[in-house]
Amino acid sequence: MADLQTPSRVDVQELRASFPVLAQRVNAGALAYLDNAATTQVPVPVLDAMREFDERDRANIHRGVHTLSQRATDAFERARSTLKRFVGAGPGHELVFTSGTTEALNLVAHGLSTAGVAPAAIGSGDEIIVSGLEHHANLVPWQQAARRCGATLRILLPDRQGRIHVEDLARLLTPRTRVFATTACANATGERPPFEALLALAAGAGALTVLDAAQVVSHNAPDLASLACDFMAFSGHKMYGPMGTGALVGRCAALERLEPLRYGGDMVTWVTWADATFDELPARLEGGTPNVAGAVGMAAAVAFIDQVGRGAIDAQVRALRARAAAGLADIEGVTVLSATATDTAIVSFVDATVHPHDIGTLLDEQGIAVRTGHHCAQPLLDHLGLGPTTRASFAVYNTDDEVDRLVAGVARAVRVLR
Ligand code: PMP
Repeated sequence: MADLQTPSRVDVQELRASFPVLAQRVNAGALAYLDNAATTQVPVPVLDAMREFDERDRANIHRGVHTLSQRATDAFERARSTLKRFVGAGPGHELVFTSGTTEALNLVAHGLSTAGVAPAAIGSGDEIIVSGLEHHANLVPWQQAARRCGATLRILLPDRQGRIHVEDLARLLTPRTRVFATTACANATGERPPFEALLALAAGAGALTVLDAAQVVSHNAPDLASLACDFMAFSGHKMYGPMGTGALVGRCAALERLEPLRYGGDMVTWVTWADATFDELPARLEGGTPNVAGAVGMAAAVAFIDQVGRGAIDAQVRALRARAAAGLADIEGVTVLSATATDTAIVSFVDATVHPHDIGTLLDEQGIAVRTGHHCAQPLLDHLGLGPTTRASFAVYNTDDEVDRLVAGVARAVRVLR
């Protein structure tokens, strides 16, 4: 395997042996799994870590004096430390385990717009700005938050090519802006907005800042210490980890402003018939029994990523994306979205006449798995004057040969279907 810091490409054939799911035929071809923006596959070391936890240490955490409960608690807290280190969290940061990016973003939007012990951070007449590149998970919770507390939701619209401009945010920010939320990479187009500059600008104007890192953690995890970021959300299942796992990591001072989403066990210090007092972070935001094996699996996924090397993974997926974008753009009638984007593992495209669903179905007949549709980003695709697209997205185990099969398969599909 490649050295941790080497931005060269990895030995993919050796690495594929760690992903048993890839070694199968699907329909008429070998599986080419190119739907990694939706969910990546899980390597054996991650499966082993979760199985070992369940076979040896499984117990409920934090509440037990017995040995297994203590072991489980240690495993959970070790996983938290590993994940914090992974995203560059410092002493002023905390990490809360969630079921994924969606839950993490709901926790923030709900927590800032709901009054509890303290008044809500967002009030009537305040403004929330959300980038126009967002997955519904970073839009709909803000629509609901704005409705709940009488705030106004403003959208930082991309240009016709789907690019976001810092000057446009400068024009939208006002003294009433309480929150700015953006993605680090648009899952529908592969566009990578200048999120570092956007977050810094919004924070400088006094807004709380939110980063959806779901599409970058697997190959280019943001470094929290160097970002003006109050809240960052990501999912385990998009970074070679288990499904139903994720995290919200952020500045302690910002996380403390969140009213909890889940009240109950494990998040209180004292309860009477009439009232309760809440625990400190992170327990306060983690009511109920968490997915401990999932947290262990996420930490094992971090170990996998760091063993292969973040630079090497990033170089690999960028090269695959560039190869795919060039090959697809050469097919007459096909338009690649965010064609010149480089810092991305996603290629999304449309054909002038053939419906993405039909392209996806013909690709599936050859074992090539891509995603078709609106990718939970309907307003963005509407804004770009597009309907559904076909999206291929790459992980470290994908090969040039799979990209070439994709390009040949799309060329054939549009020839047959036009
Ligand atoms: N944000 C982005 C950018 C995504 O790509 C996704 C998943 N497609 C989500 C949020 C939601 O993630 P999850 O379903 O894991 O909560």
